Amino acid sequence: MIGPRILPANNESIQEAAADLERGSLVVFPTETVYGLGGGTLDESSLASIYRLKGRQSDNPLIAHVLDIEGARSLTTGWDDRCTLLAEAWWPGPLTLVLGRSGVVPDLASGGRPTLAVRSPQHPVARALLEAYGKPISAPSANRSGEVSPTCAQHVLDDYSADPAADGMIILDGDRCHVGIESTVLDMTVDPPRILRPGALTAEVLQNLIGSVEYTELHHTSASPGTMESHYSPQTNCLLVDVEEMRHRLSNMTERCVVLVSNPDHHEMVQPPHTLLAMPSDPDGYAQDLYDALRKADSEQADLILIESNGEEDPNWIAIRDRLMRAASDRPV
Ligand code: AMP
Ligand code: MG
Repeated sequence: MIGPRILPANNESIQEAAADLERGSLVVFPTETVYGLGGGTLDESSLASIYRLKGRQSDNPLIAHVLDIEGARSLTTGWDDRCTLLAEAWWPGPLTLVLGRSGVVPDLASGGRPTLAVRSPQHPVARALLEAYGKPISAPSANRSGEVSPTCAQHVLDDYSADPAADGMIILDGDRCHVGIESTVLDMTVDPPRILRPGALTAEVLQNLIGSVEYTELHHTSASPGTMESHYSPQTNCLLVDVEEMRHRLSNMTERCVVLVSNPDHHEMVQPPHTLLAMPSDPDGYAQDLYDALRKADSEQADLILIESNGEEDPNWIAIRDRLMRAASDRPV
C-alpha cells in the first residue's frame, strides 16, 4: 500500500487527477474554504465512494462544484434574478446556493433531497481541475465525518494515510486555504432565503444585495450543547469558555489544558503545565488558522482543550462561533 499521494498542483498532476475522476476514483483538491474530497456529480458510484470513505451519513447532502452560473443552472431548477445577483457579486467565492435538483443529477448527490447545493470555487487549482474534468464535481470537506476540516494537504494525509480505501488517492497540494472555514450556505428555495450554515459571507452582506435573509444562530441552544450536532470536533474534550471560566480552569493544575486565546492581553494567563496557542484577534485571521489550531491542540494529547470565546456582538465572528460551538459540543456516543 502506498497510501494517499500528495502531489504539487501543476498541469500534469491536475490532468492525472481529472483522469482519476473520469475513472470513478476520488481526488482531494484545495478550495479557498477547505480541502474537498471530490467525485463526479453525475457519477453515482463516485458519489457512493465519497460517503463511504468519509463515513458520512447517506442523508447528509453534498455541494456540487461548478465553474460558473451556466454550470450551476444545468444542475438545478428555480434559478432566479436574486441568484444571478448573488452569483455575479460573489462567484467564484465562498457562497453556496441551495436550489431545486434537476432530473439529470443523481439522488445521491444531495443525500436523496429534492434540492441541490451549488458553488463556484475561487481557488485556481479547484478551477483548473473543474476545467480539466469538464463536468461538475461533488465535494464535501475532506475530513472524516464529524472531525476537523482540513486546510492543507498534510491534514488530509494525516486523516487517510492508514486507510486502504484511500490507497493511491491524489491529494492536490495548493497550499493553505486562505478563507479557512466553509462557505455560507443559502437556501434559495424558501422566501425569504435562509442561511443554513453561516460562513465567510455574513447575512448583512447578502441582505444588502437581495433584501431580507433569515438566519437563526445556534447560540440559543448552546446552554445544552449535547443537543447540538457534534461537528468539527477534536478527539480531546473541548470547552468554549469566557475569560473568567478560563482563569478558573487554568488554576486547576490537575488537568493539563491546551488553550486557544485570541486576546493578546490574556496570553500570560496560560502558564505551564498548560500550553498556549495564540490565535489572531481579527476574524479573518482567526478563521484561517482555526482548523489547524484545533488539529494542533488535539495532537498535544492534553486533558482538555479550552477555547476563549470572542466577538460576541460582531457579525463577522458568527461563522467562527458556530464552528467553535460545534467543536465544543459532545460527540454522539
Ligand atoms: P460539507 O461539504 O462537508 O462542507 O457539508 C455540506 C453542507 O452543506 C451540508 O452538511 C449541509 O449543511 C449543506 N447542504 C448541502 N447541500 C444541501 C441541500 N441540498 N440542502 C440543505 N443543505 C445542504
Ligand atoms: Mg464538512
